[in-house]
Amino acid sequence: MTKITPGATIGILGGGQLARMLALSCAQLGLKTHIFSPVADDPAFDVSAKKTQADFLDESALNDFARSVDIITYEFENVPARTAQVLESLRPVRPNPKVLALTQDRLIEKQFIRRLEAQTAEFSNITDIHSLKQALNLIGYPSILKTRRLGYDGKGQAKVTDQTDLEQVYASFNGADCILEGFVNFSKEISVVAARSLDGMFSAYDICENVHENHILSTTLVPAAIKESTAQAAIHIAQKIAEAADYVGIFAVEMFVVGAHESLIINEIAPRVHNSGHWTLGGAVTSQFEQHIRAIAGWPLGSTQRLGVKVSMQNLIGHDCEQWNKLLSSEGSLHLYGKKESRPGRKMGHFTKIHL
Ligand code: AMP
Repeated sequence: MTKITPGATIGILGGGQLARMLALSCAQLGLKTHIFSPVADDPAFDVSAKKTQADFLDESALNDFARSVDIITYEFENVPARTAQVLESLRPVRPNPKVLALTQDRLIEKQFIRRLEAQTAEFSNITDIHSLKQALNLIGYPSILKTRRLGYDGKGQAKVTDQTDLEQVYASFNGADCILEGFVNFSKEISVVAARSLDGMFSAYDICENVHENHILSTTLVPAAIKESTAQAAIHIAQKIAEAADYVGIFAVEMFVVGAHESLIINEIAPRVHNSGHWTLGGAVTSQFEQHIRAIAGWPLGSTQRLGVKVSMQNLIGHDCEQWNKLLSSEGSLHLYGKKESRPGRKMGHFTKIHL
């Protein structure tokens, strides 16, 4: 298994803020980066000496990219299977692309989680309006209809209540493969951000408590206000997932906490650095970005120790970033992603506060 040394080049698929923060960590560790993204003004291009702007299915560009780097990683889970196949034949791709197949499809992901004896919401595969009606009979109202693939931040989802015009909602999914999920009446949303190294060491950060607005992460507070036994159970599930997937790198597991007993229901696995882990940049000894690079490089993992009694991270979404000047005068650290245009729902930056 290839381990690299300082001076090596990490190829990163995707050029958004996650790739940008990964590239900055590479620079800190004396590594070079090469960003591959189809989007000309992606923010990671600004912080990397080598860049390729090409389609993810452009095999000639993928070949040149792979040959110019030592190992390859990605900032998003929707890397096309063919892209991963081409790259894997030339250089180590970490995390191992088999995990993409597990996490790109909500049905396969939930089946995988259940096999590990962890809980998910009730779910059913939906192939047509009849299977939707049958699933509703079993799962009941309210439920959430979700596309199996390519949904994020609440996109590709619709809540179904007994008032919903089923035919109309199903038609709005344009025949996409879907699942129906039971609605979980959670008291909290949490996530485990953790890493597994090339030699199988596992290390998790403190549990994050996440608040979403309009399905988009708004704030993360660490540590989550949950029982110690719940935190340990959440970390145990994350470790089982990492081991079963032979995972290398940072990943996040999003969970719902339910009832006074704080049962855990797994919502999603993200095979990458994650928005709920942004607090670690300044809020922990090793940021999730550095930890990811250490893991995929084959280096020892760093300390996940939190640096304050509490750490909070607020996402700056859309016009929120116009407060940059005001935020600079308040206590905390401002991170702006350098995106040219702010649009509603677009993640423009974040602000971290360490409560000593
Ligand atoms: P997702 O795209 O699946 O991560 O969903 C985005 C957000 O929608 C989650 O963070 C929850 O706030 C909410 N959500 C998703 N699935 C469910 C569910 N089965 N029950 C209740 N809320 C959900």
